[in-house]
Amino acid sequence: LPRIVVAGNGQLGQMLQQAGAPMQLQVKPVEPNQDIEVALHDDDVITVEIEHWPDTVTGLQLKNHPNFRNASALHAVIDRQRQKSLLDRLQVPTAPWVVLESENELSEKLESLGERAVVKRRRGGYDGRGQWRWQRGGEIEAEWAGTCIAEAMIPFSHEVSLVGARNAKGEKVFYPLTRNWHENGILRASVAGIPVPEIQQQHAQEWLSRIMDDQDYIGVMAMECFVVDGDLLVNELAPRVHNSGHWTQEGATISQFELHLRALAELPLITPEIKGVSVMYNLLGRNWKPEWLGIDGVHVHWYGKSLRPGRKVGHVNINRPTVEQLKQSLSDLRERVDDEDKIAFNWSLDQL
Ligand code: ATP
Ligand code: MG
Ligand code: MG
Repeated sequence: LPRIVVAGNGQLGQMLQQAGAPMQLQVKPVEPNQDIEVALHDDDVITVEIEHWPDTVTGLQLKNHPNFRNASALHAVIDRQRQKSLLDRLQVPTAPWVVLESENELSEKLESLGERAVVKRRRGGYDGRGQWRWQRGGEIEAEWAGTCIAEAMIPFSHEVSLVGARNAKGEKVFYPLTRNWHENGILRASVAGIPVPEIQQQHAQEWLSRIMDDQDYIGVMAMECFVVDGDLLVNELAPRVHNSGHWTQEGATISQFELHLRALAELPLITPEIKGVSVMYNLLGRNWKPEWLGIDGVHVHWYGKSLRPGRKVGHVNINRPTVEQLKQSLSDLRERVDDEDKIAFNWSLDQL
């Protein structure tokens, strides 16, 4: 088996490493933002857990490796203008959008989107950073020109995401849509294993298939969507394993991390079977408590990072065979989390 080298040194690489461990498939995370020469083998396969990094010595070494995967998809996705253009070209429905180029056309461009818009920095944003809400008559920042796109504000009923994998032969497998709750642009919780309208699943799989095939993509890709009037609009793509797929660690017969590794290492892909019902709850700047482990179906994933307010430092998967059992575990856990986090459990219980 090839060694899998992951550009990035965070929790996603760590969880890929954990998924490779039972097969002794070596996974080596590498921090790309440093000027040292790292030891790479010719037969390593290079993947990413982050989407862009500077042209440092290590950064270039990774990018220029002959087995660096998905360069084209990364190129398309790291700039929101290119990403939205890709979706348009492939006729994948997304929120109406404009590029904000020159300063004197800003208000005209924004007004063309309707009453309200979301301005997003083209590069570098995540967890809702580098985004502004605009409404007609509201303030316009000169710095948006040349650096941002704007999207119509979508009145979605909820948000879902599709996680899928494709291998070099073009075979593809998918999980059912996951329902996600974001607060201030950051994922708080996901629910999976609840009924999903067939038309939504079908459209999402068609679109993500089209995108992955077009890019000759290998590995796991996630597609975030808004649900509007019962159908989907694509919000954005993540060419990597994704936070909204973390529930698959205990909630499916194969996790997104193992699927990603299998696709990269040319091992068989299987269609994931879903085990019961799952909730994933993100630990944002909070520690976990050992007593949580006494609740049925609770699995703690701690990333070993230092605590900072709002920082993703871990997640908890709660997986149970039935909705009733899951409700019980969620209610028990809700009593044992900090008050500010009870809201994530209230949202999850509302979805069941
Ligand atoms: P991520 O951490 O997922 O990469 P991000 O910083 O790239 O996040 P987006 O996914 O673009 O940000 O937006 C974050 C959240 O903001 C969305 O999940 C959604 O809740 C809200 N949002 C973004 N765009 C729109 C829109 N056009 N209309 C309504 N809400 C939106
Ligand atoms: Mg994003
Ligand atoms: Mg997003």
